[in-house]
Amino acid sequence: MTGHVTRKHLFELPEGVIYLDGNSLGPLPTSVSEYVGRMVVDEWGQMLIRGWNNAGWFTQPGRVGDMIGRLIGAPAGSVMAGDTLSIKVFQALAAALQMKPGRKVVLTDSGNFPTDVYMAQGLLDLVDQGHRLRIVAPEEVAESMGDDIAAVLLTEVDYRTGRRHEMAEITRAAQAAGSVMIWDLAHSAGAFPVDLAGSGCEFAVGCTYKYLNGGPGAPAFIYVHPDLAEKARPALQGWMGHNSPFAFDIDYQPAGGVERMRVGTPPVIQMSALEKALSVWDGVTLSDVRTASIALMEQLIAEVEARCPQLTLASPRDTQRRGSHVSFRFKDGYAAMQALIDRGVIGDFRAPDIMRFGVTPLYLDAADITAAVDIMAEILSTEAWRDEKYQARGAVT
Ligand SMILES: *Cc1c(COP(=O)(O)O)cnc(C)c1O
Repeated sequence: MTGHVTRKHLFELPEGVIYLDGNSLGPLPTSVSEYVGRMVVDEWGQMLIRGWNNAGWFTQPGRVGDMIGRLIGAPAGSVMAGDTLSIKVFQALAAALQMKPGRKVVLTDSGNFPTDVYMAQGLLDLVDQGHRLRIVAPEEVAESMGDDIAAVLLTEVDYRTGRRHEMAEITRAAQAAGSVMIWDLAHSAGAFPVDLAGSGCEFAVGCTYKYLNGGPGAPAFIYVHPDLAEKARPALQGWMGHNSPFAFDIDYQPAGGVERMRVGTPPVIQMSALEKALSVWDGVTLSDVRTASIALMEQLIAEVEARCPQLTLASPRDTQRRGSHVSFRFKDGYAAMQALIDRGVIGDFRAPDIMRFGVTPLYLDAADITAAVDIMAEILSTEAWRDEKYQARGAVT
């Protein structure tokens, strides 16, 4: 089943490592290092300032946006790459609030990633118009819609448990209540097929260093529904989102379409790494990725439950209700994860007790899953994780 999509040769995976953290930082596609090295020398080095026109640096964010758009069901010209996901959350929510001046509530859920919630809170405080955040349990989102809600801001896949929201259904419910729908696709883009256009949502945002393998700090993206492209107001009115940045007009005029969601000068080197990294998706069908991911997740769950009784499944058992990572609870999960990493099985830990394993069929197969569980079972049965060296926490878990 996984045979169609596995492309290990396209990735630079260290010898002896089973990488189950592509949901946090995708591995390096082999083609990227050479490409970026050459780009730095030939474009930055030789073209200098001329690179903006001659190497297409200026149009790159839209070009890369379209490449991402193809993976998330968004039409050409509706996605712009740039900035960080936190910034894109701010932009989308600011535009949404301006569309609903009479409404004062932003609805989100308690499983959302903290930065999304922090950015929302900071924006509401800044706006200072009596807005407030309403945070409900993920299961209660659909029934919490109301005519006081300006925007519903949700991450489709819960970063801890992998629980997946019903995108189309929740969008319909939000819009039926007259609210603007914003989806965060951080754990969706490149993980499974997304039908943004079909969902009808107004805005979507996401990052590219997880399942899209764009590299640490790779640019984020924002989608604006084509019907809103000429209406959405960009609160972050950077000069690159102006309709003619090189007129240096003192008054701001938004560019047409999603171009207005550009802010300032893009990180060209990082954008080039991302552009090249996206070529690994050539000829890949996301429904095949999904099929393979489900098979590997089912295998992982079955093997862990059979051989590691110390762990309990924290992810939904129903595959349709799950993204592409599987989480287990274990009281000493942090130390156990360090012991695993020490033996080449790289997953990660999320407080308080979640061990997370990303399942990414482009570079993982059934033999990898079995080998990872072999090591996991060994660590748990011998309690090797009790070793002193696995207890100290790094700044990044
Ligand atoms: C990974 C992730 C982020 C990270 O935001 P950055 O600005 O890229 O650091 C934000 N939101 C969600 C839902 C995420 O999963």
